[in-house]
Amino acid sequence: MMQQKRVYIETYGCQMNEHDSERMLRLLESFHYLETKDPKQADLILINTCSVREKPEHKVYSALGRFKRLKEKRRTIIGVAGCVAQQEGERLLDRIPYLDMVIGTHAIPALPQLLGKIEVSRERVCQTSFDQNGKYLEAILPEKPVAKVKSYVTIMQGCDHFCSYCIVPYVRGREKSRSSREIIGEVKHLAEMGVKEACLLGQNVNGYGKGSEKELSFPKLLQRINEIDGIERIRFTTSHPKDLSDELIHVFSELKKLCEHIHLPFQSGSDRILKRMNRGYTKESYLEKIDRLKKTCPAIAVTADAIVGFPGEEEEDFKQTLNLMGTVQFDDLFSFKYSPRKRTHAAQFPDQVEENVKKDRLSILQNIQKEITLQKNQALEGNVEEVLVEGQSKQSDRDVTGRTRSNKIVNFEGDLSLVGKLVPVRITRAYPHSLRGESVRSSVFQFRVSEL
Ligand code: SAM
Ligand code: SF4
Repeated sequence: MMQQKRVYIETYGCQMNEHDSERMLRLLESFHYLETKDPKQADLILINTCSVREKPEHKVYSALGRFKRLKEKRRTIIGVAGCVAQQEGERLLDRIPYLDMVIGTHAIPALPQLLGKIEVSRERVCQTSFDQNGKYLEAILPEKPVAKVKSYVTIMQGCDHFCSYCIVPYVRGREKSRSSREIIGEVKHLAEMGVKEACLLGQNVNGYGKGSEKELSFPKLLQRINEIDGIERIRFTTSHPKDLSDELIHVFSELKKLCEHIHLPFQSGSDRILKRMNRGYTKESYLEKIDRLKKTCPAIAVTADAIVGFPGEEEEDFKQTLNLMGTVQFDDLFSFKYSPRKRTHAAQFPDQVEENVKKDRLSILQNIQKEITLQKNQALEGNVEEVLVEGQSKQSDRDVTGRTRSNKIVNFEGDLSLVGKLVPVRITRAYPHSLRGESVRSSVFQFRVSEL
């Protein structure tokens, strides 16, 4: 009988990275690896990272530093996966003598073979070539019912947009969509395994099917997923404002399972900066789309990404960003200081903004958003919201935690029998990052939902 081994995975970065870690785990399970949360128990340590900004990129080196002692003690196999692996390739092996494996963004399906080579000959391996056949996009499905209520489903990967600041097209390759048949098959399988919520993933989901006339459009794909029994909720991320079509906006009023939430990064409120970012839209056209979304689906929650301190950003440009935030009133905002990335155009721009200016702008923006988010959450006090229960709350054994359709975290008293259920919850208290509530009778909930 094969000896059971243990794998520890540390993940940094976006949902795409989280999902890739999940896929690696599933793949390794069929090769006698079980997950451990303790790196000291692991036979294999994988660090899966993002290189979109400098900060997550640095984390890979500090994590490797932490695991060096383990390597010396237990001969643990250590690998780096994700965007940093793709970007640095062999250079990582040169720089870190105790690193065994570099797994590029298209190399996940090759993980067992790479591991086999190391186990047999202690050879150090690196695979970072882009796969033209799309094998890297194939589903790695769970074989037994999963403990998770929600699951990511990759529908496309890569990006053709080449925003002037962004490394993604270089480390994830060009846009490539999976076939709708495979995606639908995967969602059906996940539903049979107990998953209730499917979150469709891609760098630019509204570019889904581009270049393949025979494929379903993204709105049509959503319609087909909406018909799958067992799936109660559908979400998707991320949308590019330029490609957000009226057809897609319309499905928010049509599909019952599609949650009332969109993540629509705007990056900057200044047309001058948007142009230099190569975003392909203006502040006005962005606001028009938000308007159409809110008219079509008044309950929609809107979140976004923004960058401050992009090269050449003046006080007036920054004010335009704050002005856009004031107009839209985002439910939440992920904001970043511009981080120059090797190989991108913006890294070569001569008018880089000083670090202390970036820092001050970020803090101003985040303080304003904190207030808006709290006000948005407070507006829900007294409402009855449908909450999909995900598990035990971190704060108390007596509480469970879940999310509203608008993607807000709600904690309320309840036991684990509620996990995977849609529970009507009255919101009693709003906090900056979550809501407190109490479960209410379903008759009340039915009444409120039919009113929506
Ligand atoms: N495709 C999505 C879009 O265009 O909206 C975004 C995907 S990107 C991986 C996630 C976010 O990281 C971006 O929306 C942007 O705000 C941020 N980001 C990307 N490159 C960055 C950089 N060089 N510096 C700071 N933030 C960056
Ligand atoms: Fe990066 Fe722009 Fe592509 Fe988003 S659309 S992944 S920001 S290049």
